[in-house]
Amino acid sequence: MKLLAGCPNCGRTLQLSLSAADRRIACPACGRKFKVPDMRDLQKALSVADAAKGAIYVDENGNVDG
Ligand SMILES: [Zn+2]
Repeated sequence: MKLLAGCPNCGRTLQLSLSAADRRIACPACGRKFKVPDMRDLQKALSVADAAKGAIYVDENGNVDG
């Protein structure tokens, strides 16, 4: 399963592993650091991903889309 996070600065979609959850990462495009939502937030993401059978998309505010 892939975890996708949108950079809040440049909007680039970063492909992450689930181990990046609840950590601060740096965008490779612009260098902006931002927080990846933690697994509590990702619980709903995982249920979305189960339904979608694909990647899950999160943003800095913990919003989740399938
Ligand atoms: Zn960026």
